Amino acid sequence: MARRFFIEKDIKVGEEIEITGEEAKHIMVLRHNIGEKILINDKICEIKNISKQGIEVEAIEEEKKIGIPSVNITLFQALLKSDKLEFVIQKAVELGVCKIKPFISKNVIVKLNDSDKIKKIDRWNKISKEASKQCGRSDIVLVENIISFNAMLEELQGYDLVLIAYENEVQSLKEVIQKNINAKNIAIIIGAEGGFEKDEVLEILKQENAKSVSLGSRILRAETASLNLISILMYEFDGGTSNFAHNMIK
Ligand code: SAH
Repeated sequence: MARRFFIEKDIKVGEEIEITGEEAKHIMVLRHNIGEKILINDKICEIKNISKQGIEVEAIEEEKKIGIPSVNITLFQALLKSDKLEFVIQKAVELGVCKIKPFISKNVIVKLNDSDKIKKIDRWNKISKEASKQCGRSDIVLVENIISFNAMLEELQGYDLVLIAYENEVQSLKEVIQKNINAKNIAIIIGAEGGFEKDEVLEILKQENAKSVSLGSRILRAETASLNLISILMYEFDGGTSNFAHNMIK
């Protein structure tokens, strides 16, 4: 499979553009040569020229979309300590979520001021982009701004299924999946290291299509819970198999 690089600008088939900065450096480090084909965003491009200023490429054709799941999973993740959340973002993108929305609940320990928040969002989106690149997805998973618990409640409308992983729940995930096997648009909500307060869970359960589920009889760390739930949902709901073969570039 050809390597994928992402640039901010949209690139159209037939267009020639010059790539500079970080991505140009990356292309050079990987020792790509003139005439080779690489993926830029969702276009197959031919390298036309390589110089100190940058790399000129021509977009040859549209890439067949790959790595994009057939189920749409949005991860609402309570803020976790820095390295833990970064880990969750990276792995959630690999596993196939479509959007990540960090939120603050009562038991969130991490405190961020406004300038920290901006820096974090930037960093998280960089991690997400790298993960897309690494796993061969042709889309980018947006890590949205940090929202309050109440703002999260308002964003829960419109999903076929809203799953809150609650450590004190007994209802099995299996049962809920079986009853909602046609869901296409799923929100999942995972707590912070300190878990959820009961009243928070009750508020979430007032939302349409919301169910609280147990992930088993052991208490998992938040990052384990998150990745475990995503993996199970992908297994149950994502019809996609590996389609890299369609995109081989000779
Ligand atoms: N503070 C809690 C544990 C929180 S675990 C305690 O020590 O008792 C962090 C988050 O992971 C939870 O909020 C929940 O979303 C998820 N989680 C962990 N284990 C779970 C389980 N067995 N079932 C459902 N969710 C779980």
